[in-house]
Amino acid sequence: MKLEFLGHDERYIVEQSLMTLFPLEKPTYDAVQPEDEAWCRLAAEETAADCQVTAELHYHGYTAAWTFASPLTGTDFEKEGQRRYAVAACFYLAFLDLYPKLPEALRAAEKLTLPPWGMLTGVRPDKPITRALMEGKTPEEAKRELKARYFVPEERAALALETGAVGYQALKRLEKRDIDLYVGIPFCPTRCAYCSFVSQSVERSFSLVEPYVKALIAEIRAGGEMVRKNHLRPRTFYMGGGTPGILTPDQMDAILTALEESFDLSACPEITVEIGRPDTITAEKLAVLKSHGVTRV
Ligand code: SF4
Repeated sequence: MKLEFLGHDERYIVEQSLMTLFPLEKPTYDAVQPEDEAWCRLAAEETAADCQVTAELHYHGYTAAWTFASPLTGTDFEKEGQRRYAVAACFYLAFLDLYPKLPEALRAAEKLTLPPWGMLTGVRPDKPITRALMEGKTPEEAKRELKARYFVPEERAALALETGAVGYQALKRLEKRDIDLYVGIPFCPTRCAYCSFVSQSVERSFSLVEPYVKALIAEIRAGGEMVRKNHLRPRTFYMGGGTPGILTPDQMDAILTALEESFDLSACPEITVEIGRPDTITAEKLAVLKSHGVTRV
């Protein structure tokens, strides 16, 4: 789908939404031509008080349009988020306007459905709930906000509330000098079509894995020193990605050894290594994880 942006450059969020709403479309940024079958023009205008976005959506002869405004308040950083939200919401609402106009056969051919999580993208739909609870809102208010702001249906909002409330309880248990440790392995065997993570397929970047592991180990050791100096206490450890399953057993062993030597993990109730791709799992790798006390895969 051709995307034309006027008055903003919110590529990331629009491309994430495009993947969810139009799973077969790839974003391009060439100028829109009269013969184009799929394009969307998203224009933003700002006053001191708000950001107003208009969307024009053309899809295989069907058209939709929407206008959406979001107030701009707070710091520059907060305003950036409000702008991004306004563009994403406007794109989503234009899609909702388009969807009922499309014939069944076209929807089926293009794999278009109404997204079960409203306009949310990514893998943490409970995040807005946890944030709202941290701001002091009641669970009911947090859920209402998720439904109103992100157009999440009741059933999914209830699920997000359940999950977000658990996350909030875990956060509340952290004391002042407690920290969470995260190690990212930004490589995957191949790239999944729906992926929103920072990751490279090893087909394209195999030669980077070994130098990355070396640099990572140096960083783990430096991080350990910093944590000791500042009397911080790790409470959780999570290795994610990408998918850490692409590491060889020796690379996994080297990283986890550096980790154990650099940090005191005795206060971590859970040590997690994410292996999201079954094609990367071997008995040897699982044995390495077990030997380092990993409690959750
Ligand atoms: S395995 Fe995970 S991180 Fe890697 S491409 Fe697939 S979804 Fe993205």
